[in-house]
Amino acid sequence: MNKWTTKSGYAIHKILGFRCNVFLVSHDKHHFLIDCGSKSFRNPLMRNLNKLGINHLDGLILTHSHFDHAGNSLFIRNQFSCPVIIHINEADSLATGCSPLPHGTNAITRFLINSLNGKLPVWAQYEPCMPDIVISENYTLAEQGFEAYLMPTPGHSPGSTSLILDNEIAITGDAMFGIFPGSVFPPFADNVKQLIQSWELLLETGASIFLPSHGQSRSSSTLKIQLEKYKQRCQ
Ligand SMILES: [Zn+2]
Ligand SMILES: [Zn+2]
Repeated sequence: MNKWTTKSGYAIHKILGFRCNVFLVSHDKHHFLIDCGSKSFRNPLMRNLNKLGINHLDGLILTHSHFDHAGNSLFIRNQFSCPVIIHINEADSLATGCSPLPHGTNAITRFLINSLNGKLPVWAQYEPCMPDIVISENYTLAEQGFEAYLMPTPGHSPGSTSLILDNEIAITGDAMFGIFPGSVFPPFADNVKQLIQSWELLLETGASIFLPSHGQSRSSSTLKIQLEKYKQRCQ
């Protein structure tokens, strides 16, 4: 299990790292789970939470409603009696368990998505879950004693959101990918222009480490280089 610690002692554990990274953020006795993976990873998710002795969560934060991030939302909500937090633009998808797949951003992913003819496959559907807290702008976790806030970073999907922790580490969902060396550009995005603007917002937070949901961490210097490259491309 990879672990990061911020200057003020906030701990981030990568609880799952298979298809989709799931992070647990902890400080004192407070714990937030960031995303919860798809149903097929429910057992390893619970095993790793047990290993860390987690029997209470202050909340489940969803970076967005795609099945590989939100598939266990109802299960986690029931298991821990914790609020589920998501952006308003993703709330309906979560409440129906049907989140539309994003557009492809390269020839292969475009082909894959187009071949589905606009239908949402059964494997991309999950148990519907009513959100408890729906956000539409920056949302602070200060009430829970956390030096952290949620910031909308749309583009991959309309309500994609990042968690900025201790002004140092950002958990970015699919606003960026960490799979290809030196790159952060995701293979799927609904609105590339909006995505690039979200990268700009993420850099403005002052965070130096970015933890995407797929692949490895990225530095602010890598993000800066990618921002300049794709800004020019989008002009
Ligand atoms: Zn996604
Ligand atoms: Zn994803």
